[in-house]
Amino acid sequence: MPTISKHLFAFPCLALAIGLAGTVGAAEPVKVLIIDGQNNHNWQAMTPPIKKALEDTGRFTVDVATTPPAKSDEAAWERFHPDFAKYDVVMSNYNGERWPEPVEKSFEEFVKNGGGAVIVHAANNAFEGWGAYNDMIGLGWRGADFGDRVTVDDNGKPVITPKGEGPGAGHGAPHAYKIRAQDPDHPILKGLPREWLHAKDELYHGQRGPAKNMHILATAYSDKSKGGTGANEPMLWTIPYGKGRVVTDVMGHTSGDDIIAIRCVGFLTTLERATEWAATGQVTLPAPADFPNAENVSLKGEETK
Ligand code: ZN
Repeated sequence: MPTISKHLFAFPCLALAIGLAGTVGAAEPVKVLIIDGQNNHNWQAMTPPIKKALEDTGRFTVDVATTPPAKSDEAAWERFHPDFAKYDVVMSNYNGERWPEPVEKSFEEFVKNGGGAVIVHAANNAFEGWGAYNDMIGLGWRGADFGDRVTVDDNGKPVITPKGEGPGAGHGAPHAYKIRAQDPDHPILKGLPREWLHAKDELYHGQRGPAKNMHILATAYSDKSKGGTGANEPMLWTIPYGKGRVVTDVMGHTSGDDIIAIRCVGFLTTLERATEWAATGQVTLPAPADFPNAENVSLKGEETK
């Protein structure tokens, strides 16, 4: 198993300072908009720690746009019209009703014109009938008849399971599982361990969609003994959309007060880096000293075991 080599973390603050100073426009904070407001998960418990983790890096300013609750009247939805163009990247923590058409169109334009998008956990369950959104996420929580499935073999080669064959979207019992970097040289993963133990979470499998231009950054082995598929399922991937960059991260389940998955230092670090990369195409954020290794989970705010 690869272990974290000490030199990686010898001068994290210095690395950050050099990284920021050396990047064009890096003096400017990356402007993030998180969207929430409807979800079959505890979005109220998810957004604040994610927002704080982003802000704690010093790299981001973060606003939140909360949609009306489900079944709200038209007037309430008319008040929901985020000005995406004011931001560098939009993060979705939203899984609910379709947005009003002008909002969806302006989101499409935002990404097409070079805006970043980051899709967290059940946000990829949303918007099954929105074609552009499916193109952006590549794979969503959909039935087997919706589209192709993509897994990765043990040599790192993508394997397509055609529409209609094999399992549709699901997950087994939540458990801690290993994340494996499939492209360790990608800016989002560079300098991180090749494998790390992710805190107890759902392990999505059988995700379906158009799967065009997907670049799979990391996978997890979906163990049949945990109700999984016996395949390496994509956990983190990127897709270009127009001039924009979209990152989907299917980790991050919450249930009631259980938010252990989003306290995982591996989850937070890759989410922060994904957000920076989606916005700028570069990553200056260093690997934190308490990043998990292949054997041990690391939770934010706790000493690494
Ligand atoms: Zn979930």
